Amino acid sequence: MMVITVKNVSKEFVRGQHKFFAVKDVSFDIEKGELVAIMGPSGSGKSTLFHLLTGILKPTTGSIKILDKEIEKLDETKLSYFRGSDLGYIMQGQNLLQNLTVMENILLPISLGKNKKVNFSKIEELMKLLGINEMANEYPSNLSGGEQRRVSIARTFAQDPKVVIADEPTNSLDTENAQIIMKYFKEMSQKGITILVSTHDKEFVNYVNRCLWIQKGKIQLE
Ligand code: ADP
Ligand code: MG
Repeated sequence: MMVITVKNVSKEFVRGQHKFFAVKDVSFDIEKGELVAIMGPSGSGKSTLFHLLTGILKPTTGSIKILDKEIEKLDETKLSYFRGSDLGYIMQGQNLLQNLTVMENILLPISLGKNKKVNFSKIEELMKLLGINEMANEYPSNLSGGEQRRVSIARTFAQDPKVVIADEPTNSLDTENAQIIMKYFKEMSQKGITILVSTHDKEFVNYVNRCLWIQKGKIQLE
């Protein structure tokens, strides 16, 4: 079953007098339960592509289908509901709310999404797998960068998504933290969650089903 279908997607930006394509005629499909990495240098268009996939940006041309939803046609309300339920998005960098505890951060999307009932034993289990189960009552500022990153991953998986899109989840982390995260993604994909992750960490190659290479906004053929 095809979960993500991207067809001829381009995104043009204007900077001053200059127009350019940050994403250029990109097409690919991802099947249910696949773990796919998008690899490319900084500035190659990974975050722009992910903003298009999650409906934060509208494509200049092309179409995006995720779980049979035509993303570029959904309104803001439907998009934010989708992102709080079936489509989990882990944005690049630090994105926890600093004045909420770890547990409050993790529960936040659930309170906005489809699963109003909280399954605490499931949340405890995924926090354990990510090694953050003893930090539930801490504030993000008392956690290391790697721990904070694992909390934002826990938050996304706690919303019980069918698809997860993660933008450079291991960027600037040590090998140990990066491995915990990559192993976790692999396990979740084996449970049937479809995962698309961007990275320039070559170690990811050992964990994923396949890689797409992006350069200057274009997917390269291998
Ligand atoms: P990556 O995530 O691979 O580092 P990005 O998608 O963030 O790359 O950026 C791709 C290119 O698009 C870069 O040249 C960046 O400066 C440019 N860019 C990103 N967002 C905008 C924007 N909102 N307006 C203009 N240019 C942008
Ligand atoms: Mg980026």
